[in-house]
Amino acid sequence: VSDLLSLYQEIILDHNKTPRNFGRLAAPDRSADGDNPLCGDRIHLELALEGETLREIAFEGQGCAISTASASLMTEAVKGKTVEQALALFARVRRMLTGGGPDPEGELGKLEALAGVRAYPMRVKCATLPWHTLGAALEDRADPVTTEGG
Ligand code: ZN
Repeated sequence: VSDLLSLYQEIILDHNKTPRNFGRLAAPDRSADGDNPLCGDRIHLELALEGETLREIAFEGQGCAISTASASLMTEAVKGKTVEQALALFARVRRMLTGGGPDPEGELGKLEALAGVRAYPMRVKCATLPWHTLGAALEDRADPVTTEGG
């Protein structure tokens, strides 16, 4: 139980229970779909751009608490940022989740709640799925994202 408690921190629970930016946009510029068959997580992500700025972002989907919380935290973190800033944040989060230790630049704020999944390799893909899907949307790739095969 203590393992679960450390994993499902308060922030994760909150964002899973009340996901931010959940739903669809009236006029999305980009969209992407992600699928994590290992866990059954699915996400549909939409975003609206104003120039290079992520003006609006929304997601829908069904998944475990980690994937939903990660998607919710992600939309909060990248809304209002430029495409370049969002991709840089994606790289930092991916490093935090799959690489070694805390983010060297610090300041990941609430996103650091996701770092607990490092101890649970099966869960890392749940946490990174929304970010890979964001990457696909930002780079305007048409193929659905899957955590299988890389
Ligand atoms: Zn999952």
